[in-house]
Amino acid sequence: KWKNLTVSQILDQAAEQRPDHEVLYDLFRRMTYCELQEEVEALAAALVRMGVRKGERIGVCLPNWHETAAIYLAVAKIGAIVVPFNTRYRSHEVAHIVQNAQTKVVFVCEEFAEHIGIDLLLPLVEHVVTVRFKRSEAADYAQLLLEGRGGTLPVVDIDPVEDVFCILYTSGTTGFPKGAMLTHQNVIYTAAQTVETLACGAEDVFLVPVPLFHVFGMISCFMSTLLSQARMVLQEKYKAVDALRLIEQERVTVHHAVPTMFILELNHPDFSTFNLSSLRTGIIAAAPCPAETIKQLREKMGLNICVSYGATETSAAVTFTLLDDEETNILETVGKGAFEAEIKIVNDQKETLEAGQVGEIVCRSLGVMKGYYQAPEQTHQALDTEGWYYTGDLGTLDQNGYLRIVGRKKEMIIRGGYNIYPREIEELLYRHPKIMEAAVVGLPDSVMGEIVCAAVRLRENAVATEEEMKSYLKQQLADYKVPNRIVFVDDLPLTASGKIQKGRLKDRLMETYEPR
Ligand code: ATP
Repeated sequence: KWKNLTVSQILDQAAEQRPDHEVLYDLFRRMTYCELQEEVEALAAALVRMGVRKGERIGVCLPNWHETAAIYLAVAKIGAIVVPFNTRYRSHEVAHIVQNAQTKVVFVCEEFAEHIGIDLLLPLVEHVVTVRFKRSEAADYAQLLLEGRGGTLPVVDIDPVEDVFCILYTSGTTGFPKGAMLTHQNVIYTAAQTVETLACGAEDVFLVPVPLFHVFGMISCFMSTLLSQARMVLQEKYKAVDALRLIEQERVTVHHAVPTMFILELNHPDFSTFNLSSLRTGIIAAAPCPAETIKQLREKMGLNICVSYGATETSAAVTFTLLDDEETNILETVGKGAFEAEIKIVNDQKETLEAGQVGEIVCRSLGVMKGYYQAPEQTHQALDTEGWYYTGDLGTLDQNGYLRIVGRKKEMIIRGGYNIYPREIEELLYRHPKIMEAAVVGLPDSVMGEIVCAAVRLRENAVATEEEMKSYLKQQLADYKVPNRIVFVDDLPLTASGKIQKGRLKDRLMETYEPR
């Protein structure tokens, strides 16, 4: 059904089969498949008039708006490449990406343009297009649509296997973002996995709380909606209470989110006042998923949740737990390779390890990127000649092929020669009734190399002491793993996709820490 199709052919199919079915709602506008297709064609014609040709890069720095979806599809239609920008980027990141991706056109919203200063962009690209606001120096989205209506489109030959649909920059959780080139086949393949695993169909309503510029929003939400010919509800800016309200109002059936978002929703003081009975399933992914949260999602939200693991470089999901999986698999693992995805665990010499042994997670599937854009060295480090992607994550496979995530290689703490995986300590902290969120990092120490520090955010009105937390952990962990410091915080620094940024957290913790 989806093999050998391009992204715009997926839309064409849906528009032909369900022209009047609603495809999206973004609080501003509801659109049917037919209306979306008309907007996409007008915009594609306008881009061609501007001189955009196959293979050229088009930057998109917009929140989750219907225009964002239309731009992605219009760019895909003419064989150009979508380069979504994180709307939180500031000038130096924007300059880096515009120069790295050599974007010809950039679509911007007002908030972003003001933050970075639109003057920075104007000399760097041929055209800046403003969306939902106007500037005399820039083109305007609404005007482009008018000009493009009824325009002719050239026939562009797009090869779904070879041609790149988007360059997605990684989240920057561990460092500077890298641009993963994803082909049409890459993104359609992983969306198809999601659709099949969650048994999605046209009657489903997807909530899109994660940004469309992140792989989770772009593929697991947006592409999966199109492939299922379903409907999506776009959340412009994530707020737990808005997500709960939209689920009730729009009768959402599929709720994908990162763990932090689910935690915020479950702990919202008004949680029990919302009718969430339409919810059926969803994916929890993108960061370590505490077992406690998964339990609560099943019990309190009625979500038959699938746990998934993946990365920008793999076009989102590589593994899934199944809807009817055993309880222990759902709570402890991130599932098995979906479709024909292959997974192995290797040591530092790249030798394959046996079941149960900890090593780097390496995977191969039709979702694995073509490489990093303009970065042959980084591509060479991440991808081998046989198409295996080295994730930089540590894990184990069991006899049945279920994957357990141990942590990120870069986040492993070495304290006095002992390897400590923050994930193990975080899992225990999440189980504590007073704790809402927790993150564990290593801080420098001249004697031990590193010490273990936990940042803990307590539930509303909860009171706790460092000693209380330490003695709780001491009962369950080897002494060398018990954090030397426990710091209570009001919030944790998050990426735009809602992941805890350990690098920034470390910087914050260092402000009140005097290393030996
Ligand atoms: P950067 O590479 O720029 O530091 P990033 O790795 O966070 O950013 P993403 O592609 O958004 O960029 O995230 C992929 C990573 O997210 C994976 O390599 C893994 O570390 C983590 N991850 C994804 N799903 C899960 C999961 N279910 N459990 C634990 N970690 C996960």
